[in-house]
Amino acid sequence: MPIDPREPYDNDNIFAKILRGELPCNKVYEDEHALAFHDIRPQAPVHVLVIPKGAYVSWDDFTAKAEDGEIAGFMRAVGHVTRELELDEPGYRLMINMGTNGHQEVPHLHVHIFGGRQFFQMIAD
Ligand code: 5GP
Repeated sequence: MPIDPREPYDNDNIFAKILRGELPCNKVYEDEHALAFHDIRPQAPVHVLVIPKGAYVSWDDFTAKAEDGEIAGFMRAVGHVTRELELDEPGYRLMINMGTNGHQEVPHLHVHIFGGRQFFQMIAD
């Protein structure tokens, strides 16, 4: 079910538990701003999620409330991960689902990194 982006941050969401180390993840990268790990149900040969360390429900919440340094650090972490995974050549796709229409299911901002094959269709039903 997609989340209601108007709801306050839920400290018990699955990614909050991963950040606190209460649930395991297959970690790819971590720094002071971000944690990256493999998606549990990969939809491409490479499917990695990057999440900010701060408690932000969504892209909207993050870009409205996060400090400039957090935003810059998070964006740089996404770039670092794609380079670490050697996806920059021949390329990859980034995706952020936001709220109900975006069909966001986990109420902690996450960037999807998809790679390992070529993508054709912009949006599949
Ligand atoms: P959304 O639809 O919110 O943009 O994407 C949520 C993503 O989180 C989905 O791709 C889903 O497979 C992934 N996911 C959900 N629960 C877990 C989990 O416990 N561990 C990991 N690694 N990924 C998860």
